[in-house]
Formats: sequence, C-alpha cells, structure tokens
Amino acid sequence: AAKQTGRNQFHYFTKELDDRAHFQLLVTNELRGALEDNQLAVHYQPVVNLNNGRITKAEALLRWQHPTLGAVKPAEFIPLAEGAGLIKQIGNWVFRQAAMCAKHCNEVTDGSFQIGVNKSPLQFITQEEDFDWTGFLSELGLAGNSIAVEITEGVLLHTSAKVEERLLEYRDAGIQVALDDFGTGYSSLSYLQKFDIDYLKIDQSFVRDITTNAHSRAISESIIAMAHRLGLQVIAEGVETEAQLACLASAGCDYGQGYLFAPPIPEDELLKLIASTSHGNARTMH
Ligand code: C2E
Ligand code: MG
Ligand code: MG
Ligand code: MG
Repeated sequence: AAKQTGRNQFHYFTKELDDRAHFQLLVTNELRGALEDNQLAVHYQPVVNLNNGRITKAEALLRWQHPTLGAVKPAEFIPLAEGAGLIKQIGNWVFRQAAMCAKHCNEVTDGSFQIGVNKSPLQFITQEEDFDWTGFLSELGLAGNSIAVEITEGVLLHTSAKVEERLLEYRDAGIQVALDDFGTGYSSLSYLQKFDIDYLKIDQSFVRDITTNAHSRAISESIIAMAHRLGLQVIAEGVETEAQLACLASAGCDYGQGYLFAPPIPEDELLKLIASTSHGNARTMH
C-alpha cells in the first residue's frame, strides 16, 4: 500500500522493484500451469509476397491469456519461462502447433506454405535436443522448408560449436533460417558470410520511419540491396501504412508483414484469409 507520509524517491523505487519482483514470481508460478490449463495459444501473422499479393508464409506468435492477469505479452513471459526451465516444453509445443498449421495451410495452397517459428538464444543453443523435430515433420508429410526458424543476431554472437551444429542440422533438414529484428542487434555483416541464412527481417523500427526519415529509408533500401546481392530474401516487419508498403515495394522488398495486411490471428482465421486472397489480392505493388 502507498505510504501516506515520507514517500520519497527511495521508497518509490524499492516499492517498484518489489512489485516487479513479486509480479515476476507470480507470473512464473502461473506459467507452470498455463500449458496444461490450455491458456497458451499460437497465433499466426500472415506474410505477404509483395510480387504477387499472396499470403505464402506466416509467423507463429505465442499468446497467453491468463484468467485474472489477462493477456501477458511474450516479451514479458518468455524470459521468465527461460529462467524457470519451462522454455523447452513451451518451445516444443509451439513447434508442433506451427508444423500442424503448416500442414493445414499446405492443404489449401500450392504446398509451399512456410511458418516462421521464433527461437530465443537460450532455446536455440541449449534446448530441444530430445525432441525429434525432423521425425515430427516427416510424420506430417512435411518438407523441412515448411518451417523457418527465426533467430536474432544475439544467437550468432555465441560463436559456439553448438550454434554452427544446429544451423547445419537445419540445413540438412531443409529448414530455413531467418535473421529477425535485423539492424538492431550487434549487426555484424560477417554473420551473413559465415552462416547459412535465408531471410533477413528488417526491424519494424526502420519500417516505422521509412516515409519520414531519410536515414531509415536509406538503411532499409541498403539492407534489401545487400541481401539480394548475397542471395537472401527480405521480409519487412511492422508494415502499417500504404505509404510504407509503397516505399518497400519500390526498393524491391520481397515480403511484408504487419497490421496493414493482418494482425496475428488464430489458425482458422488464417486459413480463411489464405483462401479469400488466393488470387493475390492481399496487396500487390509491383
Ligand atoms: P518478433 O519475432 O519480432 O515478432 C514481431 C512482433 O511484432 C510481434 O509482437 C507482432 O505482434 C508485432 N507486430 C506485427 N505487426 C506489427 C505492426 O504492424 N506494428 C507493430 N507495432 N507491431 C507489429 P509479439 O507477438 O508481442 O511478440 C514479441 C516478441 O516475442 C517476438 O518478436 C518474438 O521475439 C517473441 N516471441 C513471440 N512468440 C514467441 C515464441 O513462440 N517463442 C519465442 N522464443 N519467442 C517468441
Ligand atoms: Mg520473429
Ligand atoms: Mg522482429
Ligand atoms: Mg538455407
């Protein structure tokens, strides 16, 4: 409770830290039961091919609806899941959901639909050794490239043998790799030379200002040009306006993702949207 007297800076900060620590503990405890309780869900945000206006990919984004806390954001609970040793179970579950969704999307498209699955650095490096994901994909009759693993540059900072080993496993299985939030991390271009990456995802901070800030525009255009020279494809994140889309399309960006097209939605809505935009009306700019 707030103090009536003497509520100085010091009290203020300790209380805030206390509340924060208490909240994290509460959330961590609640997270333990969330999977079993069916409180977690995976939503999918459509990714539009800017050359033909078709939805050919989607990104799997974890959602947690707690009965009293309400919607808890992944940026909030994923680090807690990692700390509590729950990320492996959750990550494997997300992967299975995403693979099943890819299968359903493939049934209503030409069969080359791809779902992006996010992996935190810790997940990428240490987890999932005991989950036979290639076996799971072949059980579903899915090609490896039905999945793209999204990692941040932070993963590649760990120049451990584990990172290279894992990336080689993906390549052998045909699973693709996307570098997420590109341009915001410890962007070292040597990563692009050293590792087998398939997609760069331009961070939404550049896309947000692309029509108003000449530097953001120059950075986005340069990322696209460089990626193409290196044989990579580019996905722009956080596309919210027609003007941003026009800029990206004229720079030759391959894919767009953002509220302009659709927010993250449940699988059944994704399937309907794919069907209703199969002629390429999700937005074509070229
Ligand atoms: P991310 O992978 O960069 O995902 C993109 C984020 O941008 C998502 O936030 C998405 O809802 C949001 N977004 C999409 N379109 C727009 C737009 O037009 N404007 C704006 N302002 N935002 C947009 P979300 O769902 O809150 O996820 C945040 C982060 O949490 C993700 O960033 C990802 O790093 C992480 N995350 C989400 N799901 C998972 C998961 O299953 N596993 C792991 N390890 N991390 C996950
Ligand atoms: Mg992502
Ligand atoms: Mg991102
Ligand atoms: Mg590759």
